[in-house]
Amino acid sequence: MAKVIPRPDLSLAEAAYVPEVVKGLGVTARKFFKNVFSSEKDIVTVDYPDEQREYPERFRGVHRLTHRADGSPRCVACLCCSTACPAQCIHIEAAEYDENDPRHGYERYPKVFVIDELRCIFCGYCVEACPCDAIRMDTGLHMPPSTHRDHFLLDRDTLMALPGRDGTFQTANPRHEPGDPTHPGIDREREGH
Ligand code: SF4
Ligand code: SF4
Repeated sequence: MAKVIPRPDLSLAEAAYVPEVVKGLGVTARKFFKNVFSSEKDIVTVDYPDEQREYPERFRGVHRLTHRADGSPRCVACLCCSTACPAQCIHIEAAEYDENDPRHGYERYPKVFVIDELRCIFCGYCVEACPCDAIRMDTGLHMPPSTHRDHFLLDRDTLMALPGRDGTFQTANPRHEPGDPTHPGIDREREGH
């Protein structure tokens, strides 16, 4: 059943509107002078970029590529992130490790890894899709404005040069290297493989 809202009883001054408009303008003027000239401001905005708010802990900022203990990229160039990316703004070219490298034949590395931060919608799907915890958005940074499109194309070395908010280039999640007995992948040295 419809609820009937009774009309409010207006005084003569309220029904005339003009005094109410003047009262409203008085509030606007009071706030204006307080916020512009007084040290006790009511204003909730900040003087960006001189003043910046602290971003929340789970803020999705500019990406970074995490390192292994030896400083090489954790990324194995599996393309999961670029496949999951709805904006198609990740470009990866995979390469094989050297024949003498224990990772040869097990994992690849990203010879080219570029993210177009201008096309990125900061959904975080790439981070979710990565099986290696190799890509993160925990830098706490947002892209600075620029008039050059190229400034938004972050390559592998730039992404690896960005630390996380804790200042480290690695992640707390364990990493099992090929050849290490804890490595969960197949061992091609074993008979029968
Ligand atoms: S945050 Fe989303 S849009 Fe940006 S690179 Fe990752 S998957 Fe693509
Ligand atoms: S960042 Fe992760 S998901 Fe993307 S290619 Fe590298 S290992 Fe795969």
